[in-house]
Amino acid sequence: MGFEEIIGQDLIIRALKRSLSSGQTTHAYLFSGPDGSGKKSLAFLFAQALNCSSELDPPCKSCLSCRKTLSGIHPDFYQLFPEGASIKIGQLRELKESLYYFPREGRKKVCLIHGADLMTLPAANSLLQILEEPPADLVFILLSSRPWALLPTVVSRSLHFALKPLSPEEMELLLKRQSLLEPQEREIVIALAGGNPGKALELSSKGGLKKSLEEVLLLLESLENESLDNIFIKAEELSGKENLQEVINLLLIIYRNRLLFELGVRPEIKLIKDKLQYNNINVEEKILFPGGENINYLERMCRHLLDLQGELLNNINKRLAVEVLFLQMRGAV
Ligand SMILES: [Zn+2]
Repeated sequence: MGFEEIIGQDLIIRALKRSLSSGQTTHAYLFSGPDGSGKKSLAFLFAQALNCSSELDPPCKSCLSCRKTLSGIHPDFYQLFPEGASIKIGQLRELKESLYYFPREGRKKVCLIHGADLMTLPAANSLLQILEEPPADLVFILLSSRPWALLPTVVSRSLHFALKPLSPEEMELLLKRQSLLEPQEREIVIALAGGNPGKALELSSKGGLKKSLEEVLLLLESLENESLDNIFIKAEELSGKENLQEVINLLLIIYRNRLLFELGVRPEIKLIKDKLQYNNINVEEKILFPGGENINYLERMCRHLLDLQGELLNNINKRLAVEVLFLQMRGAV
């Protein structure tokens, strides 16, 4: 399977295939979309296709060239990664030295720039210089989750493809293909992941997902109604559990979705079934998008959960941290 393994980006794939079959590739492609949207998978397939030995519907993914590209050892395939927080001019200079020779094994020299928006201004200008007089056989593929942070001149010299969020049906197809979730778990993952395939696969790869989800959903339900004493007992229970980090991650996703919902960003997703029930809880109304919550409160919760995610990696008093979290979730502090 080549480009077919990418779900939900048919227009982009059609355009890429068209330029491949006509042999009319441009010198810079920009793939943008949030982390997990599939930019990197798409870029690797395109990079493989540019030098694939198979005539038929490249990339074949099995010829030597495809395999070398995929493992990053093809002599005509270059990758730039941010070093620390940025991609620096020195990295571009070094790259430039090798770009003006003919391809050694393939038809094209392909250069994949990860986190292209992290190029410093001098680095971006150096890229522009190359793009002003590019060698005929050179193709840049830029990846960015923040395309607005790129130099407009870099964007305008690139063919920009923005990956779109997947529909619930596309997400279901992806999860059916790549995970072993039960139908109900699948629906909850689809709702939580908000059209982001990477996030959905990450969520579904966790073994104890069903258990953690059940815990989180019941927790959200009960925090509203139970007495403070019971909340402290629940905090103690959760803080001793092995899946604490996962519960926090799920809570963060849920609060982020709620915040986006209140900010007017209606989820791109629509649940496949009208009412998603889980242990008799209407997940959509009560848990994911309850509606009418205070934006400041939701922002505070997201920030707090993010902090807690980091703190849990250190040696903190987990019980105390979870108690504070629960009180905040109740809006008590
Ligand atoms: Zn191939």
